[in-house]
Amino acid sequence: MPELVLVLKKDDIEKMVASVAHRISSDYKDRELVLIGVLKGAFVFLSDLARHLTIPVKIDFVNASSYGSDTTSSGEIHLSREIDIDVKDKDVLIVEDIVDTGLTLTYLIDYLKSLNPRSVKVCALIDKHERRKTKCNLDYSCHEVDKGFLVGYGLDYSEDYRHLPDIYHLKL
Ligand code: 5GP
Repeated sequence: MPELVLVLKKDDIEKMVASVAHRISSDYKDRELVLIGVLKGAFVFLSDLARHLTIPVKIDFVNASSYGSDTTSSGEIHLSREIDIDVKDKDVLIVEDIVDTGLTLTYLIDYLKSLNPRSVKVCALIDKHERRKTKCNLDYSCHEVDKGFLVGYGLDYSEDYRHLPDIYHLKL
């Protein structure tokens, strides 16, 4: 049986999300902000983040994946959903669940920059640095870990555990 070790409790996650939403609301005041959630893992984070913002935003999603049912990155990014909203001259904020190697994020930044937005920045729930392969700047991040495979709060392992309100380290 896989073991779940608690990493972040629901209440702590909520405080982190509220605090980062406060910074974003202040930084993007009077700007046209579009949040781009990265499916599927960021859906819970994005919905909480959006509800803590005090500025109007538009919301769209991309579906990018580099993981199959394994816990290690294949290194190959597959974009199965592109955005519908026109982001030309708008401020774009990518909302990502976890940045691990950084390959997904680098790919998404290049994709979104090709659509001529005013700016592209990144907000990640978890910054997991040990296996980082690309130099990518996380403008906003809620929590940092060195390593470990995390589940819960939208994060899955083979589509399980996304519904859990807390975040756990999954030990297989
Ligand atoms: P990267 O391209 O940075 O290596 O990986 C980014 C994507 O891999 C994340 O959006 C996420 O979907 C997945 N990922 C990376 N680390 C974890 C983890 O610890 N748990 C889960 N559930 N997914 C992860």
